[in-house]
Amino acid sequence: MPEDVVRALPAEVVARAADLDAADPLAAFRAEFVLPEGVVAYLDGNSLGRPLAATRERLARFVDGEWGERLIRAWDERWMERPTVVGDRIGRVVLGGAPGQTVVGDSTTVLLYKLLRAAVDARPDRPEIIADTENFPTDRFVLTSVAAETGRTIRWIEPDPATGVQPAEVAALLSDRTAVVLLSHVAYKSAYIADLPGITAAAHAAGALVLWDLSHAVGVVDLRLDDAGVDLAVGCSYKFLNGGPGAPGFGYVARRLQAELTQPISGWMGHAEPFAMGPDYVPAEGIRRFLSGTPPILGMIPVEDMLGLIERAGMPAVRAKSVLLTEFTVAVADEVLAPLGVVVASPRDPERRGGHVTLEHDRMREVVDELWRRGVIPDFRRPRGLRIGLSPLSTSFTEVAAALGHVAELLGRRRD
Ligand SMILES: *Cc1c(COP(=O)(O)O)cnc(C)c1O
Repeated sequence: MPEDVVRALPAEVVARAADLDAADPLAAFRAEFVLPEGVVAYLDGNSLGRPLAATRERLARFVDGEWGERLIRAWDERWMERPTVVGDRIGRVVLGGAPGQTVVGDSTTVLLYKLLRAAVDARPDRPEIIADTENFPTDRFVLTSVAAETGRTIRWIEPDPATGVQPAEVAALLSDRTAVVLLSHVAYKSAYIADLPGITAAAHAAGALVLWDLSHAVGVVDLRLDDAGVDLAVGCSYKFLNGGPGAPGFGYVARRLQAELTQPISGWMGHAEPFAMGPDYVPAEGIRRFLSGTPPILGMIPVEDMLGLIERAGMPAVRAKSVLLTEFTVAVADEVLAPLGVVVASPRDPERRGGHVTLEHDRMREVVDELWRRGVIPDFRRPRGLRIGLSPLSTSFTEVAAALGHVAELLGRRRD
């Protein structure tokens, strides 16, 4: 750590970070990622995870072998099954989902459209969809289009942005008019964890379906979709699943609903017999019917590498380290940054906090610009949020301490 940054941190904080790293059972995993020297601290793994060094070799082998040598034969040999093979692995390792319910394919945005539309169409007598105004833009925009296309009314919850959607707020709007409830499990701004089992059960009691966006939860929160009886879910694979830019999203559809749902983008890859090339669309049995066009095989390679790493670490251990990382961040923010006017805008209860922490200050825009110049990389969320994404297998406590030292130094702290 540079001198002025160390000077901006109490010696006790630097020592505590070192102790936490020394006691971290997952510390060795960090060395498996690509770690260039110019990156002092990477705290945006919730937007784009770091690549694994093993992926370099896997991609090279793919170009030479699977693609270069097997060529078109690889579709028959391996690629046709990839969307469900990788989907099942996502289900097993990070979703708590039995096989046959998860598929990898389009972007999260497109999958969200497909599953939301399918869910709304499956409840033709119910005119309302429940959602919240703090959800990620794609979720609100797609929902608005689906509501317009299908003539439904959106019942908007306006949650406290510092926390998130409360079960009572959902319950207040649920009725026999509700077709679908669309929510994010972990809020992208505050990291608030919505009560997935409770809200799912309440929606079911009202006869509605629930679609959960898991983009900021998957790979960092220990999910149990089957146990909670979740109907539908989507999520990104380039955030805490480190799939790389534009890696395909995944969709989860509970087996009991698959035959009853029809998604709107009826492409040849979702057909019962893709190579029959017949005149009519006949959806495939099972989860394959949620495919549309040719799946992005290349983008699934890094995801598989990361799933292997998470499986070795074990999801409960990943979640345990995630809690320690966010706990440490909140504690240092309280001790060192609060006197400089910084406010913690994420839940203080670790049970309700996902894998990132948002810190607010009026000068955060310029602070983040300077941090990026220094190779300290969190992200900025308007109007005044510094968002610290803590990817459990690639982030060290010392890395977090260094980043917060830079923030303290930029906001004017000197150790006296
Ligand atoms: C990141 C994110 C997305 C992104 O969707 P893409 O189609 O992959 O761009 C969607 N929803 C939520 C909640 C997200 O956090």
